[in-house]
Amino acid sequence: MFFLSILVGVAFFLIVVLVAIHIGMRSRTPDEPPESPTIHASGIYSIVRRSPRDSIAQFKPSQDELSQYLAGKNEDIQGKPLTGDDKKALVSRWEQSLEENIREVEAGDHQGVEFYYYDFDEDDPVCRGRIDQGHFVTREEIFKFPRTIPPFHIGCRCRLKAHHGSEDLRETTRLGMRPLFRDESLPPLPTWSDILKLS
Ligand SMILES: [Zn+2]
Repeated sequence: MFFLSILVGVAFFLIVVLVAIHIGMRSRTPDEPPESPTIHASGIYSIVRRSPRDSIAQFKPSQDELSQYLAGKNEDIQGKPLTGDDKKALVSRWEQSLEENIREVEAGDHQGVEFYYYDFDEDDPVCRGRIDQGHFVTREEIFKFPRTIPPFHIGCRCRLKAHHGSEDLRETTRLGMRPLFRDESLPPLPTWSDILKLS
């Protein structure tokens, strides 16, 4: 009888161990989304290189928000009248611009780009004085503040461009190149609802 109870005890113990192993194996099954090739490095670097695409929606208005907002507006900040077609063009320009800028960062991440600078094809009186041509941000600043990715407002002419040179832009003496950030905090950016009609 004593021998039998030891046998039952051992059998019970084995079952418990087997169940524990099974649960342990299941919980190790990878359940994470597939990583892009640039995220495989470890440490801060891997975090910084995550595509801004995942978080940008929290920081920028959606297409619906823009359309609804524009529906109640008849002119831009300079008093230029806005037609229905102008408003549609502004919404699609926003989407296109955001996509282009995100792609610039994604492409830069594959090449290890550390600095990005702002560029303007046309005059942009809304951005002027806050974001100017030659202002630059580091990849880490973009990671910390995805708001630094243009467009900054409706009809924004600003573009983010990867700096492919090997020089550290923080130490550059190149004319017009200067950091957007004076310290750790995000500098004032244009308000998204300021409308600049497309030319
Ligand atoms: Zn702008």
